[in-house]
Amino acid sequence: MPSVITARRLPFGCAGRRRRSSAWLAALFLALVCLSLTAVQGWSIYSSRKAALAEAHTATQNVARAMADHADGVFDLVDTVLVDVIEQIDHDGLHGARTRLREHLIAAATRTAPIQTLFIFDEQGRWVLNSLDQQPAGPPLNIADREYFNYHRLHRDGATRVGAPVRSRAGGQWVIPVSRRLQHPDGSFAGVVLAAVKDDYFRNYYERFDVGAKGVIALASDDGRLIMRRPFAARDLETPAGQPGDSLFSRWQKQGGAATPALREADGIERRYAYEHLRSYPLLVAVGISEREVLERWRKSAWVGAAGTAALLAALLLLGSAMIRQLMVRDRLQQELRAAKGKLEASNRSLQEMALSDGLTGLSNRRHFDQRLELEFKRAIRDGTSLALVMLDVDYFKRFNDRHGHVEGDAALQAVAAAIGGSLRRPADMGARFGGEEFAILLPDTDTDGAIAVAEAARRLLAERAIDHQGSPFHIVTVSAGVAVMRPRREQAPRLLVEAADRGLYEAKARGRNRVVAPDS
Ligand code: GH3
Ligand code: MG
Ligand code: MG
Repeated sequence: MPSVITARRLPFGCAGRRRRSSAWLAALFLALVCLSLTAVQGWSIYSSRKAALAEAHTATQNVARAMADHADGVFDLVDTVLVDVIEQIDHDGLHGARTRLREHLIAAATRTAPIQTLFIFDEQGRWVLNSLDQQPAGPPLNIADREYFNYHRLHRDGATRVGAPVRSRAGGQWVIPVSRRLQHPDGSFAGVVLAAVKDDYFRNYYERFDVGAKGVIALASDDGRLIMRRPFAARDLETPAGQPGDSLFSRWQKQGGAATPALREADGIERRYAYEHLRSYPLLVAVGISEREVLERWRKSAWVGAAGTAALLAALLLLGSAMIRQLMVRDRLQQELRAAKGKLEASNRSLQEMALSDGLTGLSNRRHFDQRLELEFKRAIRDGTSLALVMLDVDYFKRFNDRHGHVEGDAALQAVAAAIGGSLRRPADMGARFGGEEFAILLPDTDTDGAIAVAEAARRLLAERAIDHQGSPFHIVTVSAGVAVMRPRREQAPRLLVEAADRGLYEAKARGRNRVVAPDS
């Protein structure tokens, strides 16, 4: 029914895409901030640890290099003395000018700081001469059982050899035996020249370097014999340095100059080592620093950083969750407000509909009809078009009520309204209940024939329903209709059209009812 007010659909309550709530967005933002803060802090802790270890490695590598240079220098110096002594022996013979040779030994030992004593032994390992003022007490010195003595006896190479420290049989203190082979002119073994190097010459030097309280500086031979170690412990020198497969030398071969992973040692301390091989001797310096000590400062600053970040995170979470709670309240209020607004608008719409429609028939009511008549009248003036009005009145309706009762009367009025609705064709056509059992049909831009056709259609549709009406000569409920059509002018009032249609209705009644009359046509 085009005349019935159609409810305008408003977007409330049926929004297409679900909106993300601001609380949800804030929670996501908070989570992202917390995660990135944690990630940044984690990364900075990780990279500062790496930097601390790299710095420590460079420092230990430098110490190792300095130690190796020092050892090279010391052994070169001792080597010069040994070569000098051998030349002297070659010149004078071992048993020849003993006094001169002895003076030579004393002078050489005195002027060479690292050397404690110089010894000459014959091919039996028996002591021949030394640089001491006096002979050592006790049984005559024999070194035939010493490892370096055997080495020279069996090896023809004339190189200077640095041996593992031994307790001096002359003085009882730890010395490093640096020795060279003596040979007869035919190349056969003639004995050994030995320089006992003071081990504290190294020890004191090593003590001057800061490698931390738990740091280690070690000098070892390539075949795994420990020659010097700081911190010094005689026990270390009496036992081989590590297992054959795990000597400092084999570790050095494996790792070279690269930063080594931490190594847990027998004393339970994890150390990182830097190695440096001596230039001219099969010896190696290893400098180890305790990983714990290296990372001490880093650990402290990492803790401070982590604690700061944790505090910041806690504050963020606290504030953030308070904010999210507030946003949730706001979101809920907004939702409630939207729902209330929707309800209000819906009830406004139904109120509006109620205000403009007739409760019994669903057609437009008198007030709406008056508004539309005014509007269409003006439009017709403006456009120069015609405007048609049909007034309908139920025939003998008083009698119908009397015979069939008011309830049936109301139903009959609804049937009339349905017939009117069925007769309308254009969207602009309007059917209205004018009052009581009177109805109106407003037809913009319609001529008389068209209006008569609509009125006839309504009358016919009602008649087709054949509603029993005992009080009517037609025996069914019928309507009479008056049709008026005019081309309104500016000086005219809408009232004129209603009066004209009313005249038609009056005439229809007068002519016997159940008909359509257009008096002015
Ligand atoms: P006529 O053919 O000349 O129009 O005769 P009539 O009886 O229809 O005319 P009259 O104006 O005397 O009576 C109109 C009756 O319509 C009076 C009233 O009881 C009845 N009526 C008016 N409005 C309603 C309504 O809303 N419901 C019902 N059931 N009856 C109504
Ligand atoms: Mg009437
Ligand atoms: Mg009537």
